Amino acid sequence: MSEPVPVDLVAQTWERALKAPAKIPASADVVIIGGGIVGVCTAWFLAKQGVNVTLCEKGHIAGEQSGRNWGWVRVQARDTREMPMIIDSLNIWRGLADEIGEDVGYVQTGTLFAASSDAQLEKFSAWLKVADEYGIDTRILSPEDLAQHVRGHAVTWRGAMYTATDARAEPHKATTAIARAAARKGATVLSACAVRGIETAGGRVSAVVTEHGRIRTSVVLCAAGAWSSMFCRALGVSVPQLKVRGTVVRTSGGDDVLDGNLFDDHLGIRRRQDGGYTIAHGTMLDHPITPATFRFAFKFLPALMQEHKGLRLSIGREFLDEWRTPKTWALDDISPFEKTRVLNPAPNPKVVRGIRQNMKRVFPGLASAQIVEAWAGMVETSPDVVPMIEQIASIPGFHVATGFSGHGFGIGPGAGRALAGLLTGSDTGIDLTPFRLSRFFDGTPIRPQASV
Ligand SMILES: Cc1cc2nc3c(=O)[nH]c(=O)nc-3n(C[C@H](O)[C@H](O)[C@H](O)COP(=O)(O)OP(=O)(O)OC[C@H]3O[C@@H](n4cnc5c(N)ncnc54)[C@H](O)[C@@H]3O)c2cc1C
Repeated sequence: MSEPVPVDLVAQTWERALKAPAKIPASADVVIIGGGIVGVCTAWFLAKQGVNVTLCEKGHIAGEQSGRNWGWVRVQARDTREMPMIIDSLNIWRGLADEIGEDVGYVQTGTLFAASSDAQLEKFSAWLKVADEYGIDTRILSPEDLAQHVRGHAVTWRGAMYTATDARAEPHKATTAIARAAARKGATVLSACAVRGIETAGGRVSAVVTEHGRIRTSVVLCAAGAWSSMFCRALGVSVPQLKVRGTVVRTSGGDDVLDGNLFDDHLGIRRRQDGGYTIAHGTMLDHPITPATFRFAFKFLPALMQEHKGLRLSIGREFLDEWRTPKTWALDDISPFEKTRVLNPAPNPKVVRGIRQNMKRVFPGLASAQIVEAWAGMVETSPDVVPMIEQIASIPGFHVATGFSGHGFGIGPGAGRALAGLLTGSDTGIDLTPFRLSRFFDGTPIRPQASV
């Protein structure tokens, strides 16, 4: 008999008790700020190469975006700039469980984008050129072909874009498992260890200052997710970043309607390893307006125009919280990172209701499925919704890798391998120039190719 699934299966990732580290290392070759999938994968690749790496996470490993996402691992409909890295990432995912000796919930079950109109189908078809260029098996399915992959739907689709080699994995398992693998390879992985700032000597990085003391190092990677912009701003580095809140639910039971990932105007739904479904609304994302919205408005205009249909703007507590947060702080005092150990936004009840309605509308057989858990996550995004990765010229030794937007989980292992190369000066074959942060300041046109 299979084990009962706990009601707080996903939330356990960030709700367990936090224990401060007994001690921290005095020095490291590389210090990584942030225990999301990007930081953790980078630490794993560095540790495998024998690099002395310490990762500092202010709260829980995978406590923010990396433990809260939908779990889609997809190449389909990616921005062309991300293609080499996501292809590499999928290769890593395929062998990951065997290599680390732990289950990450990875299964190759495909991604479907179902179209409710011919115009939408035509828009999807445009991506086939990219797929073809990179040798990806993406194809357009007729409504009849689609019926072989999705069962019991009550809406009419004109067809779908389908990539059979796309996959899903379990976010509540994957990042923590990779962190344990990194530790087994010699990385020091610290939770409840906020980095307050960095120190420099002779014009370059000389240490990070954590809440538990100083770690000497000449190489730092800021992979701080939704906090990267604030961290970097205190160092005089502008990182254009905004946040949108995504609400997600987990169901138990219900009819067997699909095995992989499906997106349409109503739902983003995927099968879970435990037999239930992880579901989000197809068109409802919240952007709480903050001072950063105004600061970066111009750069985000193209993305805002692209997403305007599904984006709900609100102004409230988040505005005041950010307004009151100091721009700089003393490194020997409690920092904003310790004040919010885990960014844990409440799920939007309206969105949960919308998901419930759309579940029944699209799949009547899911009417009996129980929503057993709901949570939300703040997706942090860059103006063109692809990552910002660069060594900061004004602070040699200080690197940023952030802005992975709504698709950083799938690309995380590939990003980790490429970043380990960047930090050690070795060529991984992945060109990181298209992701340079400076593209937002050197007059390069800001053109999102994919959605958040
Ligand atoms: C609702 C939702 C759905 C999504 N769906 C998908 C999906 O299906 N597929 C996909 O590929 N992607 C998806 N994403 C996006 C994906 O989750 C992110 O792109 C990815 O997890 C980003 O990883 P990260 O390591 O950069 O950041 P995070 O996972 O946010 O990790 C950053 C970490 O840095 C820590 N930190 C910050 N500041 C400090 C400090 N000063 N000191 C120490 N630690 C610090 C934070 O506590 C945090 O844990 C989704 C995201 C959300 C929220």
